[in-house]
Amino acid sequence: MKSTSMLLGAVAALLLTVGCEVHVRQDGPPPPCRTCNGAGSLACGGCGSKGSVEVITACGTCKGSGALRCGSCAGAGAISCGKCKGTGDIAEFGVGKKLEVKIQCKSCAGRGSLACGACTGGRIGCSACGAKGKIAQQAQCQSCAGTGKVACRSCRGGRR
Ligand SMILES: [Zn+2]
Ligand SMILES: [Zn+2]
Ligand SMILES: [Zn+2]
Ligand SMILES: [Zn+2]
Ligand SMILES: [Zn+2]
Repeated sequence: MKSTSMLLGAVAALLLTVGCEVHVRQDGPPPPCRTCNGAGSLACGGCGSKGSVEVITACGTCKGSGALRCGSCAGAGAISCGKCKGTGDIAEFGVGKKLEVKIQCKSCAGRGSLACGACTGGRIGCSACGAKGKIAQQAQCQSCAGTGKVACRSCRGGRR
């Protein structure tokens, strides 16, 4: 019965191994902190362990409005018609007569002003903030000083 003796040998070897494990010294290091799993630090909740947080600030270029006053029309949205000087009419004098005839200005169709081609209603979208009025900036997380980790309170950062 060769197989039985081989099996017994295997069992003996197994027992020997188990025996060794049982005799591990009892005064080993204390179990790791359950809160941080022995790491001494925890992922910062303030920044999601990224170390930086997104700070939304009002755009300084447009003062948070998202639009800038048009320089071409000074924010009016229209430019005064140069042909009729903004009146919409052109005074013409009849040949040989002293009668003043006013005819509608063709350039501005009598409106006296031309729509500004550079803007919409005198406002131009702010390019600094993409017309949103706000700028998202990455700033260092105050909770973890940019490290993304905070010391574990349960074990005071692993220091016992
Ligand atoms: Zn801990
Ligand atoms: Zn943080
Ligand atoms: Zn802006
Ligand atoms: Zn304009
Ligand atoms: Zn005109």
